[in-house]
Amino acid sequence: MSYVRATLKGMAVTLKHLVDPHKVTMQYPETKWDLSPRWRGTHRMLTTETGKAKCVACGLCPSVCPANCIKLVPGEDEQGNRYPLVFEIDEFRCIFCGYCQEVCPEEAIHLGRHYENAEFDRAGFVYDLERLMAQTHPVSELWDPSDPRGE
Ligand code: SF4
Ligand code: SF4
Repeated sequence: MSYVRATLKGMAVTLKHLVDPHKVTMQYPETKWDLSPRWRGTHRMLTTETGKAKCVACGLCPSVCPANCIKLVPGEDEQGNRYPLVFEIDEFRCIFCGYCQEVCPEEAIHLGRHYENAEFDRAGFVYDLERLMAQTHPVSELWDPSDPRGE
């Protein structure tokens, strides 16, 4: 008889959840959660008014990246202005720590409030400069160092 009791108990739990008005199942992808302003997801490279990448190829973000997933090849124009000849981020290796955004003196590279970056193969996760510039999702605000709740 114990299995009957267990079955009834299980069905009662199922029924309870079926009519629970507080259930949190989200009908993804039709509906989506509102992400926190501090959500750290897919990167974006911000651009100037003329549409160029804000990056000045200073080299700080690849130096600070703990996952070693930023590739930068710097270039220089006739005026001596540096710019990224190659700038790539491997979103698969990235641990979304936010150091690159924090360290960037030009506020060029940002993490984004975005997580739908699934790919069919490994190579698809490597975002080149063009792809990083084409992202339009909102950027992460990271944290305010003066906010005691920041950590
Ligand atoms: S978020 Fe962290 S791990 Fe990802 S690219 Fe930036 S520094 Fe590297
Ligand atoms: S820290 Fe900023 S300016 Fe420097 S290489 Fe990275 S994205 Fe470019």
